[in-house]
This record gives sequence, C-alpha cells and structure tokens, in this order.
Amino acid sequence: MMPLVSVRDLKRHYDIRLTGGLFGRRAKLKAVDGVSFDLKMGETLGLVGESGCGKSTTAKLVLGLIPATSGTVSFDGSAVTAAHDAQWRHMRRRMQMIYQDPLGALDRRLPVSAQIGEPIAVHEPHVPADEREARVGEIMTSVGLRADQAASYPHELSGGQRQRVVIARALALQPDFIVCDEPVSALDVSIQAQVLNLLEDLKERNGFTSLFISHDLKVVRQMSDRVAVMYLGMIVEEGPPEDVFHAPMHPYTQALVSAIPTPSRRGKRERIVLEGDPPNPVNKPSGCPFHPRCPSAMSECREFQPMLASHGSRKVACHLRPAPSAGLIAAE
Ligand code: SF4
Repeated sequence: MMPLVSVRDLKRHYDIRLTGGLFGRRAKLKAVDGVSFDLKMGETLGLVGESGCGKSTTAKLVLGLIPATSGTVSFDGSAVTAAHDAQWRHMRRRMQMIYQDPLGALDRRLPVSAQIGEPIAVHEPHVPADEREARVGEIMTSVGLRADQAASYPHELSGGQRQRVVIARALALQPDFIVCDEPVSALDVSIQAQVLNLLEDLKERNGFTSLFISHDLKVVRQMSDRVAVMYLGMIVEEGPPEDVFHAPMHPYTQALVSAIPTPSRRGKRERIVLEGDPPNPVNKPSGCPFHPRCPSAMSECREFQPMLASHGSRKVACHLRPAPSAGLIAAE
C-alpha cells in the first residue's frame, strides 16, 4: 500500500551570521539534515529528541509551511514541496496541525465557536451558517466541550479546554493527516493524560494518520505505532516503540532511555550520562554528529557519517552494527 506521507532526504539549512557587521563570521545552521520516513494510512509516527534537534522544523516542512532547502515530501502521491498555490490549498485542508501553545494558537478576540468554524467557512464557503454551527456543536461535543462554552473567549477557558478547542478546530474539516507538535507540554501534568486519552480516542474514531512530536519518551511510547529518534537534524533510530524503548540500539537512544525514571527496583537501570555540550545545529561535528558525546565512538566515527540502515524491525544510523541493550527499560 502506498504511504499517505512520504519524506525523502529532507533538509532545511539556514545561513546565519555568528558575529555582527557586514563581514561578520557566517555559519550554516542545519536544522533538518536528511530526514526520510514513510507514514502509512492510519499510522502514528512519534518523533522524539531533545529540544532543538529539528522536530518542529520537520513538522513545518512536512506540512509545506516553510520551504525545504532540498528533498521531497509527498502527500497521497502529490508533491507538497513542489505544489503550486491551488494544489497546496487543496492538500492543506486534508492536513492539520495541533500546536504546543493553545493560547498562542487561538485568537483572543474571537469566541471559540467562530474559531472552530473558521476552517469550514474558509474551505467550504457554500455551507450555510446554521449547518456550520451544527457541525461546530458536534465537534465540540466530540472533544468534550460543552455547548454553553461556544460563546466563551480563549482567556475564559482553562489550559486543557483551550487545547480541546485547538483540537476541535484541527478536526473541523475531517483531515486525513494531523501533526501534533508537543500537544501537551504546555499543560499541567494533571491535564496531560486527559488530552492524550482524548487524542487516542479521536484517532480510534476518526482513523487519521499522525505525526506526533514530543521530547517526552513516555508520551511518545503511549501514542505511537512507530518511533523515530532525532539528533541534530537527523533520524538516528526508528522502529516499533516496544523495541526502541525496551532494547535501544543507537548509543543516543540508549542514553535517552536510561534517563526515564523506573517505577520499581525490579526495573532499576544505570543512567548513561552523556559528556560534552548539548546539541547545537550550528557547525555540526564531522562524521557521526553524535561522536563528541558518544561513549562508544571509534576513529572512523569522526570521519564517516553513518547511514540509517535496517536491523531487523528497525533502522539505526551507527557504525557499530549495534546490538540492542536488552532490558535497559523494564516492562511496565
Ligand atoms: Fe557512536 Fe560511532 Fe555509532 Fe556515532 S557511529 S553513535 S559515534 S559508535
């Protein structure tokens, strides 16, 4: 079956000036540097990695919100990266995004019903106002908002309710593909589980395909059918969550997984503390970009960049031909 979303060697590089003045020192910021993946219909791919690793830039590139330096994105067989305005507009209504900060994503001056109904008004102008209102009411109910909240303004709602409004707006056109960019990281911990359960429930009912972005491995494990771990603009490991989190192969994934708190002594594991500076996409290291921090680095790692290669159920970018670190995370 043809994937709904197909991403090949996607790059987004920025020329930046490190020092001031006309002749200031320049550098290349490689925010996304050769990302490839496929998303089958109905599947959720979790994209995980530290802040600044290129997850959100990848999301914007996939949706065509920013231009790529090179590489391709296709959606249902059509090239997003080469689409002209009318094509992109048609595709755009089938692709939606749920943002991290619900208050920033909403217009403070409009009642929530107008904001949920806005995509319908824009993309389906022939729909009469009363029918649009009825659809908005149904969507509000489906995301757990009350009918009497339709006239509320964003500042009158709680953080969790605002995120439900953002989700409702994303669902208004019954999209095939939704990008969730850190959808619960701005919410109180007590509310996060409710919103995650709602997203799982909506996906079950509506069957959409999604790209789920988070820095939180536990959240990604709960929400994803497959997981891709990003480091400095590249995917370093990809596979089923149970394999990636129970027996990570890439040394970076092993370090990330070792930092997840274990609930019991039975699952106690040794934390791998990475040496060196946190990732900086400006002037990336040569060879394997992880080599300055990798506990297993070899001389060839400084020179040659490893390609993402298949190892059983997953893909790994490492010269070690890595063996999985079995039992690194306890079964819960
Ligand atoms: Fe470490 Fe080398 Fe593998 Fe990179 S290629 S993760 S430096 S062992």
